[in-house]
This record gives sequence, structure tokens and C-alpha cells, in this order.
Amino acid sequence: MEGKKIGNKTVSVPSILGLGKEGLDAWLAERGEKAFRAKQILEWLFVKRVESFAEMLNLSVALRAELEACFCINPLEIVEVNGAKDATRKFLFRLQDGRLVESVFIKASQGSQGQQSDRQTLCVSSQVGCAYDCKFCASGLAGFTRNLSTAEIVAQLLSVEAESGEKVNNVVFMGMGEPLANYTNLAASIKILNAHWGVGIGGRSITVSTSGLAPQIKKLADDTEAQIRLAISLHGASDEVRSRIMPVNDKYNLDRLFEALHYWRERRKQRLTFEYILIEGMNDSLDQARLLGKRAKSVGALVNLIPYNTVEGLPWKRPSEEQQEAFLRAVKSSDVAATLRREKGGDINAACGQLRLRREEELEISGEG
Ligand code: SAH
Repeated sequence: MEGKKIGNKTVSVPSILGLGKEGLDAWLAERGEKAFRAKQILEWLFVKRVESFAEMLNLSVALRAELEACFCINPLEIVEVNGAKDATRKFLFRLQDGRLVESVFIKASQGSQGQQSDRQTLCVSSQVGCAYDCKFCASGLAGFTRNLSTAEIVAQLLSVEAESGEKVNNVVFMGMGEPLANYTNLAASIKILNAHWGVGIGGRSITVSTSGLAPQIKKLADDTEAQIRLAISLHGASDEVRSRIMPVNDKYNLDRLFEALHYWRERRKQRLTFEYILIEGMNDSLDQARLLGKRAKSVGALVNLIPYNTVEGLPWKRPSEEQQEAFLRAVKSSDVAATLRREKGGDINAACGQLRLRREEELEISGEG
């Protein structure tokens, strides 16, 4: 764990990665430092990717010492990396307080239709655990612990790039947690990921996925400058079916959700995506498919059908391939664009959707750490 010795105690200091340009400008101004120092520091952090302040050679010794006293750079420690180098890899990180989160790196040539693609996608977590209790999801099984800080979100990308030697060019907030329930840090991390002074990933290559927090969807539509994409985890096309598997639907039902989606559409250029996991006997009837098609049509959304991936400890399973294909056809009968994930493994949503809160002790007992 990264920390500073104060007396005989080690205390963790915040990461500088979460400050952003404005935060850094303000911090420097308070200390009477010249404004151009911000540009230099950001370049060390996001272009040269140094791992210590001592390497920031164009800064004065005094400024380096002051930075060193106030901040760490990367607050994440890589505990474990799973998966082959040229396939989907899961990264397990330890945070400064000992909690664990995961990111998934999905390499190129795994387009949703099996086509070649040069996408290098990183699926990031936004919270430790999740409070939304979707009945099919692994991430919420152990409940909610805390929000990730802005730095902890951004650092997932820096750590994965440093470890893998690869460049991420697509970020999806489909890891553990509900990103819109961590609104402030989400918005700040998007800004840093997108900014030319930051990581520099185009807005269209950043996707926020939500279980449907209607007020925050509207806020995101108003606040975010970048043309980011929005994905809705729908999973049910009527209130009755959706409420059964997603308790959030009792708070924001489909009417409220769609009102927010219309609001989004009026303000944003990017197309919406509906994620719809197919779970046998729960949400896979052709009635749901037809309703889903109509709903997608009403907001011009693209539908992604994802055969459910079994989660240990949960009873759900995916429908037969015939049922999946029939469902797809019924959605398409409304003349909407829809895809069905047919590949066996390594799929983005499957991999991301199965990030589970691991207990710190479990890791130590099994000797994995
Ligand atoms: N809370 C946000 C972000 C998590 S996204 C949201 O709900 O959108 C995780 C994605 O993986 C969602 O589309 C989710 O529905 C999907 N997912 C979760 N569990 C899954 C499983 N067992 N099989 C396939 N996809 C799953």
C-alpha cells in the first residue's frame, strides 16, 4: 500500500490522478507556483507516465518534495492478473484501504458480430460492490461497500496499460458498481479520460452503463461535454418483468426511465444502447421481445442481447439457442438494430458482468495474493 510515514504511523495520501487540470491549477496557485507547472505535471502523469515525483525533472526540488508530501501517483496495487495475454484478462487491484476491485481488458478482434476490430476495451469498476441488488448479477451479491474515488477509476486504465504494454482505446463503465450512483467521481473521471491534457480517449469511445437512475441520466445529459455513449441495462421490457429482476425499477419505473431517455436523446448525438441479458423463463418470452423492440424503436436504441452467463450461487441460466434466435427475430420485427452475442467466452459483457466482490481474507486464506 502506498503511504507516507508521519511520526511512526503510515497514512495513505490521496492520489494526484484525481485532481484533473482545475484541481492541479488551484493547488499550484495556493502555493504561488507558476500556472505552466500544471501542464508539465500533467505531461509527466499522462504522457510520460512516470511512477514517482522524483522523475519530474523539470520541476524544482522544492515542488517535487511538496508533491511527494501531499500525494501518491497510482493508488492501486495489482494483486493478480488472470487470462492469456492475447485474450480477455481480468486485473484484480488492491485499494489503499485494502479493498479489492477488478477491471477487465478485452483485446482487439472480438467484435460483437465476430468481425475484426481494433478495439482495446477496458471495462472499469466504479464502486466496491453495488447497492442495486439486480437478482442475476454477481457484483451485488455481497452488497455495497463504497464509491471509488476519481483517481481509483482513472488509475485502473493507467495500471492496465503499464502492466500489459498495450493501449486502451475504448472504456466501458460496465465493471463492478453503478456508475451513476457515484456521479461526481464518474463525471470527474470521464473528464480526465477524455481530456487532451489527460488520457485523450474520444467521447464516442467512452460508454457509461446504468441500471437506469433516471435523474442522473438527465444530469449526465446536461453536464457532460464529451459525446459519450450511454448504455441502459434494461433486462425487462415491462414493469412487471423488470421489477422482478431489478429492484431499481420500483424506484424508477419504465415510464420514468424512458422520460429520461427522451431527454437524453434531445440533447445528445450518440445513439443509446439497450443491454438485455436473456435469462430462461424470466425475461425471454416473445412478448417481452416484441415489447423490447417497440421500446427500442421509440428512442432509437440499439439492442444488445446477451445470453446469461451462469453465476455461482445463482439459479439462473440462459435460454436455448433456438429461443435466443427467436427472441432476436421478434425484437427485429420492430425494425430496430439488434445483435445477439453468439461467441462462447471472452465476451465483454459476460466478463464484466461477473465481477464479484472478493473478500480480502478469502484471498489470503487461499494463498492467491
Ligand atoms: N450497474 C451498471 C454497470 C454494471 S454493467 C449497469 O447495470 O449497467 C454490467 C453489465 O453486465 C450489464 O449490462 C449487466 O446487466 C451485465 N451482466 C451482469 N451479470 C451478468 C451475467 N451473469 N451474464 C451476462 N451479463 C451480465
